[in-house]
Amino acid sequence: MDNAAGVTHNIAETIDSATALTAIRTEQLCRHYRMGDAVIRAVDGVDLAIRAGEFVALLGSSGSGKSSVLNLIAGLDRPTSGSVVVHDRDLAKLSRDELAGYRLHTVGMVFQSFNLIPSMTLAENVELPMRFAEIERGRRDNLAREALMRVGLQARMNHRPSELSGGEQQRAALARALINRPKLLLADEPTGNLDSRTGTEIMNMVREFNQQLGMTVVMVTHERALAERYAQRLIFLADGKLAGDEPNPAVAARSEEHAVKTEARLS
Ligand code: ADP
Ligand code: MG
Repeated sequence: MDNAAGVTHNIAETIDSATALTAIRTEQLCRHYRMGDAVIRAVDGVDLAIRAGEFVALLGSSGSGKSSVLNLIAGLDRPTSGSVVVHDRDLAKLSRDELAGYRLHTVGMVFQSFNLIPSMTLAENVELPMRFAEIERGRRDNLAREALMRVGLQARMNHRPSELSGGEQQRAALARALINRPKLLLADEPTGNLDSRTGTEIMNMVREFNQQLGMTVVMVTHERALAERYAQRLIFLADGKLAGDEPNPAVAARSEEHAVKTEARLS
């Protein structure tokens, strides 16, 4: 009896740890838009499995469906058919409130156009997700200051976005994306509006969050060189379908090395 229970327990544990490794899974994911009589198959049967802690680039030419896939993973949009499962939760089965909670606590997002609120200071922008999460004032102030410090903007916290450079605005957007300690960082062309030096600065920060905070990163880009420099894996989309999925050995090896070092330091 004991033995049988033990075995069952072990199997359950094994299954748990196997699924725990997968952060994001999509199954036959479709998002079709109807335009008059025409149907645009923006996402057309995409199967993906992204491991927890992985840094993945989603590549493809303009119109290939990259942003549509990212928005479905983010819970900003619902699939026409198929499913998105994040940390074993099928997004389609969440109520409206649960989905809002998912967007607030599990997902951090950054966009090409930063999407900061112009009338608010950086500190107010960064603490906004915590206001929705009903975290009390003093704690919000501290966490916002800490997040802005992490991205090197503590001196600018009382400025409005229009008083900052593009790179600074994107750093503030990263601070906001991080504030609720989400497990996923979803970035849609995060360097698209930045010069290459500033873009590198932002990407180095994203890599730091991936490595030091263990966030799973999915970055949409049409720049292969950028993806090759930072992502452990390159996933290609064309016409809403998967067109390739390749490991990026150089970066994957470096990340592996970093993980081993971090483990050694912690033990
Ligand atoms: P990407 O990010 O790779 O450039 P998108 O996911 O934005 O591609 O778009 C994929 C396709 O879906 C494009 O043909 C685009 O025009 C279309 N599309 C995206 N959003 C909408 C929408 N809200 N309504 C209609 N068509 C859309
Ligand atoms: Mg796009």
